[in-house]
Parts: sequence; structure tokens; C-alpha cells
Amino acid sequence: MLTINQYVKASSLEEAYELNQKRSNVVLGGMLWLKMQKRNVGTAIDLSGLGLDNIEETESELRIGAMVTLRQMELHQALNDLTDGAARESVRHIVGVQFRNMATVGGSVFGRYGFSDVLTFLMAAGAEVELYKRGRLSVEEFAYLPYDNDILTYVIVPKKPMRAAYLSQRNTKTDFPVLACCAAQTEEEVRCVIGARPMKAVCLRDERGILAGGITKESAEAFGAFVSETVETGSNLRGSAQYRKIIAGVLAKRALLQIAQMDESEQEGRK
Ligand SMILES: Cc1cc2nc3c(=O)[nH]c(=O)nc-3n(C[C@H](O)[C@H](O)[C@H](O)COP(=O)(O)OP(=O)(O)OC[C@H]3O[C@@H](n4cnc5c(N)ncnc54)[C@H](O)[C@@H]3O)c2cc1C
Repeated sequence: MLTINQYVKASSLEEAYELNQKRSNVVLGGMLWLKMQKRNVGTAIDLSGLGLDNIEETESELRIGAMVTLRQMELHQALNDLTDGAARESVRHIVGVQFRNMATVGGSVFGRYGFSDVLTFLMAAGAEVELYKRGRLSVEEFAYLPYDNDILTYVIVPKKPMRAAYLSQRNTKTDFPVLACCAAQTEEEVRCVIGARPMKAVCLRDERGILAGGITKESAEAFGAFVSETVETGSNLRGSAQYRKIIAGVLAKRALLQIAQMDESEQEGRK
């Protein structure tokens, strides 16, 4: 059981940061993960009064506040338009609507969980995190940093044109994923992120130039084989490392074909 001795609704990020420097204190997101822990908390630090519960849109980026819920992310038009609905697809299998109305982006990203759909999507979207003390860095870098007592304030998705597709394999609906895959094609590169391996998400790039001539049935198949061969996976009760490697290749191929299909449909529409 989680026991909380004191509760503080922070009136500034500085206050929240100072309180969070004490080891026994803890920042609250939606508390869905925290509540399952057996832990004695000194002071619970509530960020809900700091205006971090909105997705702000600027000319160049979407700034997702740490207290934005997964449901807000799922329903946000601009975020889903930018990512071809991959934002929605990455969270819609997580438990249920009531759950997603409470789970926060901050708690999901700061936790850097090995099963995370959210981390998988944001890494492929080329997102950055903003930490109160450390400042901005890519989700890709942040995912592998050691845990510290900083506070995540925003997740920032650049408004760079992309094609994206998100797929996951689950043994049963709403369970944790056995494997997740998000592919994103930008003007510069193709990023293929494999999550729930069951380690933290990892971004694979086309280092062999397999997709240099475009995404076709053959190149998607070859890239899938490359992913399958390259990605490091592990075993747990949901699936073996070997099974995950096969699934990773299949999902990578399908995600790329989805992207190619979107391009084709767009071109057809222009005719
Ligand atoms: C039963 C269950 C099933 C789930 N299934 C899935 C799934 O299929 N796919 C998936 O991707 N996820 C899944 N999750 C994870 C879930 O979506 C959330 O990511 C998780 O609950 C954390 O979000 P939260 O808002 O509840 O954070 P909390 O539980 O409140 O916090 C989590 C951690 O993050 C810290 N924290 C929170 N906010 C901040 C911040 N702004 N700055 C610094 N630290 C912070 C807290 O101190 C704590 O250590 C599941 C969780 C549960 C409980």
C-alpha cells in the first residue's frame, strides 16, 4: 500500500522541484502506477495547480504539459493530424477511457517503462522533453538517462511534416503490449521505434539504405528482416525474446506499408 504523510499542492515549479529533492518525497501524476507501490511517502507533490494540463500549439511545435492525460492526447486533433493518428493509436488500447482520463503524459514519460506505448510513439515522433532544471533534450536521449529528482514539465512534438503508423501486438485487448512499433517518415529519415521489447523503446534507423529507393513491398519486407535481425529483445510472461524479434519485423514491415499506402492515397486524391 502507498502511504502518504503530507500533501502539498505546489504553487510554483521551483517549490515542487525543491520538495522533490528529498528522497522520501514524490511527484504525483495520475497516481495509477504510484498507487500500486508499497511505499511510505513523506510529502506528495501535486503539480495540478501549475497550468500543465494543456496542449499548447505554436507555429513550430505542440507543447504537451506534464499533467495532460492520455485521453487528451488521444483526442487532440492537431497532434493526430500531424502524426496520421499514431498518437491516438498508441494509447487507445491502454486499459479503458476512465483510466486514460487519469493517467498523465508526465507520469508515463518520466517513468520510462519498458512496456510503454507512449514512449514508443513519442520517440518515433521525434519529441523532446523539457525538464525543469536540465532543460530540453530528445525523448530518445532521455529514455536512457538514470532516474533523478528533476521535474518533467512538457513533452514537445515538433510540427515537422511526417508520415507515421503505430502498431502493437497484445495477447488480449487492453493488456500490456507484447511488442509495439511506431514508424515515422520525415524529410530527413525513417525512424522505426520498437517498444515493449520488453525493455525501453529503441529507435532503429535505415543505416543500410534499404529504403533509399522508397517504401515498396520488397523494401518494407527487407527492412522488416533488418529490424528482426537487429533489435534486442527479452523474454517475460507475455512472450519470448525470439517471438518478439519475429513480431518486431512483421510490425515494422506493416507500419512501413501503411505509410506507403497513405502516400499513395494522397497522390490519388490529388489527381
Ligand atoms: C494496470 C495498468 C495497465 C497499464 N497498461 C499500459 C499499457 O498497456 N501501455 C502503456 O504504455 N502504459 C500502461 N500503463 C502505464 C500508464 O499508462 C501510465 O503511464 C502510468 O500509470 C503512469 O502515469 P500516471 O500519471 O499514473 O503517473 P504516476 O503513477 O502518478 O507517476 C509515475 C511516476 O512518475 C513520476 N512522475 C509523475 N509525473 C512526473 C513529472 N511531471 N515529473 C517527474 N516525475 C513525475 C512519479 O513520481 C512516479 O514515480 C499501465 C498502468 C497500469 C497501472
